[in-house]
Amino acid sequence: MRRPLVAGNWKMNLDLAQARELVKGLRDGLAALGPDARKVEVAICPPAIYLFPVAKYADGSEIKLGAQNLYYEPKGAFTGELSAAMVAETGARYVILGHSERRHTIGHLEDDRMINRKVKATIAAGMTPILCVGETLAEREAEQTLDVLTFQLTAGLVGVGLESADKLVVAYEPVWAIGTGRNATPKQAQQAHAHLRGQLREVAGNVADEVRILYGGSMKPDNAGELMSRPDVDGGLIGGASLKADAFLGIIKATLMS
Ligand code: PEP
Repeated sequence: MRRPLVAGNWKMNLDLAQARELVKGLRDGLAALGPDARKVEVAICPPAIYLFPVAKYADGSEIKLGAQNLYYEPKGAFTGELSAAMVAETGARYVILGHSERRHTIGHLEDDRMINRKVKATIAAGMTPILCVGETLAEREAEQTLDVLTFQLTAGLVGVGLESADKLVVAYEPVWAIGTGRNATPKQAQQAHAHLRGQLREVAGNVADEVRILYGGSMKPDNAGELMSRPDVDGGLIGGASLKADAFLGIIKATLMS
């Protein structure tokens, strides 16, 4: 039985006062849901500079912390980067890796080889990567979606031992759906997720059945329920809608009911 994970990717948004307010709103909202809320795991991934203060705001709650990136080398002359050990020290449990904005938007920063190194560094530091994969619109239109997913997943996991499911979360994030207001249909999401699980089985055997595969791309309270009700959709990676407590809680509630 896979426990759903709803993770908020704040990207480069909010100031510290807004971050504090948001965490307070989430804590209050989750408390109001009662013990049932524990059926869904909730994580927030603030900008790196807010990891320590946000860890304090979330202290004593069930909200987990995640980072949006790290660097794979343990230390050295890598100005501006953060090692996995540094990120782990903040209390982060998750690290988003291979997000399309880092693959495609920020000056083509990351390729699959680099993402693979980051996946390994994250696991070695005791955290769980949220490995993002997804096709562009041109790739979907050229019917290359499943090939792209196979390639990104297997390249991201080269040499990664997946002896237990807590070592990995996968996020299917079609690039054309991120921040566009246009989500994948539940049928498209299920097809991609089932394919990813099949590919995971090739590398991880039965552990693949326990690995959570999140959907990400314009998920909102009003489309979350239908997406989450698909058998291989095990939660969401949420961008825009994670910046408002009401919207994020709405997605958590929809997950609980699905
Ligand atoms: C994301 O950035 O991972 C994402 C899914 O963004 P949005 O929900 O805004 O589409």
